[in-house]
Amino acid sequence: MVVNRGIRFIDDVRENIRLEIFRKLPPEAGVTRIEFEGPEVVVYVRNVSFIIENEESLKSLAKAIKKRVVVRVDESRRLSETEARRVILSKVKHLVESDSDIVFDEVLGEVVIKTANPQAFMEGDRKLFKEIFAETGWRPKIIRKPPLKSTILESELNYIIRQSPIRLSFLRAVGERIHREVLFKDNYVRITALGGFMEVGRSAILVETAESKILLDFGLNPGSSTLKNFAPRVDAVGLKPEEIDAVVVTHAHLDHVGLVPYLFKYGYEGPVYMTQATRDLMVLLEKDLIELTRREGRSLPFEPRHVQEALLHTITLRYGEVTDITPDTRLTLYNAGHILGSAIVHLHIGNGLHNIVYTGDFKYDKTLLLDKAHNKFPRVDTLIIEGTYGNTEQPSREASAERLVEIIKSTIESGGKVLIPSLAVGRSQEVLVVIANAMKQGKLPSVPVYIDGMINEVTAIHTAYPELLSKELRDSIYSSENPFFYDSFEVVAGSTTRYEIVESKDPCIILATSGMLNGGPAVEYFRMMAPNPQNTLVFVNYQVEGTLGRKVRDGAKEVHVLVGDKIEVVKVAMKVYSIEGFSGHSDRNQVLKYLRDIETKPKRIVLNHGEPSALESLKNTILRKGKELGLGPSIEVYVPRVLDSLALTTA
Ligand SMILES: [Zn+2]
Ligand SMILES: [Zn+2]
Repeated sequence: MVVNRGIRFIDDVRENIRLEIFRKLPPEAGVTRIEFEGPEVVVYVRNVSFIIENEESLKSLAKAIKKRVVVRVDESRRLSETEARRVILSKVKHLVESDSDIVFDEVLGEVVIKTANPQAFMEGDRKLFKEIFAETGWRPKIIRKPPLKSTILESELNYIIRQSPIRLSFLRAVGERIHREVLFKDNYVRITALGGFMEVGRSAILVETAESKILLDFGLNPGSSTLKNFAPRVDAVGLKPEEIDAVVVTHAHLDHVGLVPYLFKYGYEGPVYMTQATRDLMVLLEKDLIELTRREGRSLPFEPRHVQEALLHTITLRYGEVTDITPDTRLTLYNAGHILGSAIVHLHIGNGLHNIVYTGDFKYDKTLLLDKAHNKFPRVDTLIIEGTYGNTEQPSREASAERLVEIIKSTIESGGKVLIPSLAVGRSQEVLVVIANAMKQGKLPSVPVYIDGMINEVTAIHTAYPELLSKELRDSIYSSENPFFYDSFEVVAGSTTRYEIVESKDPCIILATSGMLNGGPAVEYFRMMAPNPQNTLVFVNYQVEGTLGRKVRDGAKEVHVLVGDKIEVVKVAMKVYSIEGFSGHSDRNQVLKYLRDIETKPKRIVLNHGEPSALESLKNTILRKGKELGLGPSIEVYVPRVLDSLALTTA
């Protein structure tokens, strides 16, 4: 918003909320002040015990003002850090590894407690949590310490705590922007395709109302080696960074999140909403991208510090949590089943004026890692849905897992080695579970499984969020048996070991990034292993046109590989297989099934994230089967191009 907002209006909305809070909470609570921090309303009190004992009054307050309410203790009533640490340690000594797992955030009045057993704080009606809060005045923030150590998670958390004063002033600025009077009575809602329409890559959608400008995703195009088609077309619509109210990110793949740091380079200072797992993966993948481009002598349109800025401006949301992100828009994220933390976006605009559901990349089928995508929404008017596989059917996951095990088994039995180039996020973890299960069941001999590249760090992030994983995996993490780990698994450190692994006489399995052989350790293994006909290469993900992976998959017998600054000719004598059924995208049948199952039914469907042929074919199928799927006779299906705009309401 760039209009001159009247101070009177701003105060009205916030003042009304303040009055309501003072009315609802009795004087015994000792409310000292009320702050708006991002989408949350923070109530500072002197008597936290009273609030804890009268939890109902807080719940009815949140319901009445339709806001997320957080209680903190007034600074004057908090114990000193030393005192508080002593009290906390006396209660949780058995739940933390060392003193350094307890960190105080003085600015927010929070105490971060890192533990392998966060449930312990929530048992018995959150007894331990409440005790610590009441006795010390510091609000506990319990963070799961994953069984696998993640350096990224650690440094991220420390960075956010160090930057707490900046973060607080950012949150208050966002709070002011969200909680202000609606200025316009105009009722238009419009979406503009900025990228990822009739193509895969650089996903970005601009949602505009009279009050808000919201970006859904802001990715890069991994298939573009030049700047052409690399970024979403914000330039063409003349969108200025200061006009954007909020950015919402569906998931951590670079075609959806890759250029978020670039927004900060160009002066965006607002919030980025996503799940916490997406935030962790985003930092990891952006850092990896920077490293990779630097090594290849290419450049990116942003610096590492812009990734840190994006992290600092990220507001994380849990699935199902309804949040005001602008004066006229409420956001809710739901499980998308695609990768860890992936979300379907629901926007409720203007008190029922219009509802948008944007699936992002989604999987409407259970995988070994995740439950299938969420399909129930209070209201849907416009559904924006991906059609990557809009004209194809994939083999089942069970069949694909069996085939993978079969290929590995026959290679091992004939004394060869298996190389699986794999995407670091999701696919690798799923393949690890398939291999571990097969070994446990005796379907595969227990040969060494070498894990190389970023995979292990990503696996660690998976173990930090068991609540997001499928029930089976969750149960095994809770029972402290790590489903991603098996005796035969070994993490590779350093390139000498890579040579030794390939030179050794013994059969083994190697899982390495990247999944399309366009960089990463997988290329190094490939170069060494390819000339030996005893070895096998198995692709488990899509190979984009133009990548080394695509050439090898298509049967090239000789390929050129860049080693340092020299080009090496590599003969491909190893066996090459490609297994299609591990995809994290819905195929045509799954998309149709989703449309049949979705509650409530949309009036309009917009297709994106797919090649033109896939999207056109999907559009025709939907129109043909509309009645069968329970869609109304007047259902509209659109396949916009990049830069097309669509009015969603009659203005
Ligand atoms: Zn994706
Ligand atoms: Zn995507």
